[in-house]
Amino acid sequence: MATVPNKLLDPTRVGKPSLALGLVGLFSSLGVLMSNTTEEELVAAGRGKWSAPGVPHKGWVCIDIEDLGEPQTECEMCESRTIRYVHHMEHPDYSTILAVGCVCAGHMEGDLDAARSRDASMQSRASKRSRWTTRKWKISKNGNPTIKADGFRVTVYERSNGWAATVSPMGGSGVIHGRRNYPTMNQAKLAAFDEITRLQSANNG
Ligand SMILES: [Zn+2]
Repeated sequence: MATVPNKLLDPTRVGKPSLALGLVGLFSSLGVLMSNTTEEELVAAGRGKWSAPGVPHKGWVCIDIEDLGEPQTECEMCESRTIRYVHHMEHPDYSTILAVGCVCAGHMEGDLDAARSRDASMQSRASKRSRWTTRKWKISKNGNPTIKADGFRVTVYERSNGWAATVSPMGGSGVIHGRRNYPTMNQAKLAAFDEITRLQSANNG
């Protein structure tokens, strides 16, 4: 558009300064819009796997949650958001577990409130989680690190060249065995912490 600069530079145009300012304002507000694009809008816009063939939009189940400590991984569904609080989602018709953000998770499982509740629980427990692995863990009679916390007993143990965790309600019955193995003892401890967070958010939500 060669005519636009000419008009802007035309000294006879009284409206020149306000037009230039208007353009600056337009571009800066576009910038704000782009950086504040919500995950909701990315879902609605069909970003990433939301428009990929063969990826189910509903029927997913959250099997795990994880606080990465800072935003550092891309949501594997909208592929457009860097996330800190991860919801691991599984689907019977999809071969891999997807690590996604709160809003994508909510849409995938058809329950936005449940996803928001898990996310809020992770946020409220973040500082406690940062101290979790260095608390005073005892050694069980089987020789495994164990601790009582938040109404649960957590035990971590070596399994298949890695570490696994169990979480059992105090004074209740039933032991929850973590499905995944982790390379380190601390990762298994953190997975157990996140399982308690998930259980708490499920009870509150
Ligand atoms: Zn997403």
